[in-house]
Amino acid sequence: MTAASTLLDIHDVSLAFGGIQALDDVSLSMATGELLGLIGPNGSGKTTLLNAIGNLYTLDRGRIDFLGQRIDRLPLHDIALQGIARTFQVARVFRRMTVLENMLVPGYTANEAAQHTPGELGQRARDLLRFLDIDQLTHEQAGNLSGGQQKLLEFARALMLRPRLILLDEPFAGVHPLLKERMLERIGELHGQGIDFIVVSHDLPTILRLSSRLAVLANGRKIADGPPEEVRHQEAVIEAYLGV
Ligand code: ADP
Repeated sequence: MTAASTLLDIHDVSLAFGGIQALDDVSLSMATGELLGLIGPNGSGKTTLLNAIGNLYTLDRGRIDFLGQRIDRLPLHDIALQGIARTFQVARVFRRMTVLENMLVPGYTANEAAQHTPGELGQRARDLLRFLDIDQLTHEQAGNLSGGQQKLLEFARALMLRPRLILLDEPFAGVHPLLKERMLERIGELHGQGIDFIVVSHDLPTILRLSSRLAVLANGRKIADGPPEEVRHQEAVIEAYLGV
């Protein structure tokens, strides 16, 4: 086993929308081999932090490094090329395309397309759909899929990029329990293969089960960070959740 090294280094990041301080001096460093759960009350800045890592926003302050390289000033599509993939709270699929077409959308697969023939890309897409047990939907229009199936499709599409780090935003919300179990299993398998994850979820029992480390945001600030079983019992975390 190789020693863990720093995968992602979020350093003193602040970001405001008008008068709202969505992220307030957040620092968070993640080593390779970690599966980071990110929790916090509604509006605490979790999605904004994923968006900041994914370079959807320009930071007001701070910097973000990925595998030793500064990434917060890269053009958006370079983030994917660096090895960071992302899914969204409400899955973003192309509703009028088939599931397979969604997997092969140029732009998402530009880097892969440069290295592989269309036949190889098609095969990879089919393999990933099978891996997530949605291959029976290969030729279905994505708009006909359930919300949970769309999340699996988005996850499969993220894997087309051969990412090193995957950011999952509420992957289990509104997902049928069977699909959720499948997703959990697959996340575990992928993590075993060397892909690291940041998972945002309101589903505390699931996130405790899944994560090797838990970070908590409240009002744009990081209020706790550490082993899940320790963090969940910290007073500040209980207060933030119960609002007392
Ligand atoms: P969470 O994911 O923890 O629910 P968010 O990151 O979505 O929280 O939001 C943090 C704060 O920033 C909230 O007050 C939210 O209303 C605000 N916010 C998030 N995105 C935007 C945006 N694009 N424009 C304006 N305000 C935003």
